[in-house]
Amino acid sequence: MEKLSRRDFNATLAKGVGGVTLLATTPLACAMGNAQNKKKLGVALVGLGSYSTYQLAPALSDTKHCYLAGIVTGTPEKENAWAEKYGIPKENIYNYQNFDNIAKNDAINIVYVVLPNSMHADFCIRAAKAGKHVICEKPMAMNVEECDAIINACKKAKVKLGMGYRLHSEPYTQEIKRFVKEKTFGAVNYISADAAYRSTSNPNQWRLNKKLSGGGALMNMGVYAIQSVIYGTGENPISVSAQEFSTRPDYFKDTDETITAQFEFLSGATGSIMTSHNISANRLFASCERGWFELDPASTYIPLAGRTSSGTLDFPQESQQKLQMDDFAKHILFDSPNLAPGEMGKRDMMIVEAIYESIAKGGEKIKLNFETDYGFGG
Ligand code: NAD
Repeated sequence: MEKLSRRDFNATLAKGVGGVTLLATTPLACAMGNAQNKKKLGVALVGLGSYSTYQLAPALSDTKHCYLAGIVTGTPEKENAWAEKYGIPKENIYNYQNFDNIAKNDAINIVYVVLPNSMHADFCIRAAKAGKHVICEKPMAMNVEECDAIINACKKAKVKLGMGYRLHSEPYTQEIKRFVKEKTFGAVNYISADAAYRSTSNPNQWRLNKKLSGGGALMNMGVYAIQSVIYGTGENPISVSAQEFSTRPDYFKDTDETITAQFEFLSGATGSIMTSHNISANRLFASCERGWFELDPASTYIPLAGRTSSGTLDFPQESQQKLQMDDFAKHILFDSPNLAPGEMGKRDMMIVEAIYESIAKGGEKIKLNFETDYGFGG
């Protein structure tokens, strides 16, 4: 992610809290700055479907550095219910058509795009053009080209861009990253990750419609498995080979049902993933030089659970979404690391595209070459 100069950072920070610059040098200014530091950033959720309704909005009632300030919805009936429940003023409610007016609204600092995948790029770019910091849900977009367009729009507008990769803020995942970084069990030799669930509901849902989702299990749950093999080794893969399996073509008419893929890493480690909309599995397992570690489940909301060859992992369970949105707000307010930058979302989309390419070529090994290491996220 582009490193902002101090001047840019001041400007961004000022933008972040409704025009009040937080950095200050005189004692009075410092005291005022401290008071302003306590101010929370306003978040507008775009798309009020199940993830916004049941995870993000409740989490925003609990966040320390940001709060639910606005909504953007294509369903007028939701406006009053949300306004009443969360005390959202009328002037902070937008629809998809008048959304760009959000540029004039100083109460909104962050736009969080929680729409079907085909709409991510459009709304992230419009949010950036409106001068708002952006959180983009996973998968970042429909393809790498759209990821680039989002990243470039945010760079041009000098706004911060984060992915909705909640696990980077979550203690079990952070512990896995620590094992890898500190080689607690020695080097990782093999990593395996499954992220899958069995879908039986409405066959007309957008996730099973390629025009809206960009793909099936791989675009949805597969992104978690890709993330797992990367933070579970601390490396970006150098190649991938993949296979697709179909057992319910009547239901999965348009999108992939089950995909497996195998990765090679520069260290010599190997990895494999399974993702599916027809199988239930949620696990990360790493075999290391001197032991092993495992999360099972590895990417559900809560509670995660984990074990290692030395014993059980036990961390407090908190809303991952709360931790994630606070981490992003802290990135804006205090220049703390961006745990899941847009470039990380783009890298994962490059891997998704390579997996689809391998499948199209009958499982051929596709080489991957990443210039930057976004393996750890902060
Ligand atoms: P959902 O189907 O519950 O909600 C989608 C929302 O988009 C609805 O409010 C719907 O009205 C709106 N919408 C606008 N145009 C639409 C169209 N043409 N078709 C269908 N809906 C349309 O979906 P969701 O589960 O809330 O997922 C939204 C996004 O969040 C997706 O990108 C998904 O991958 C992501 N997500 C992430 C997590 C996570 O843990 N990070 C979890 C769930 C979903």
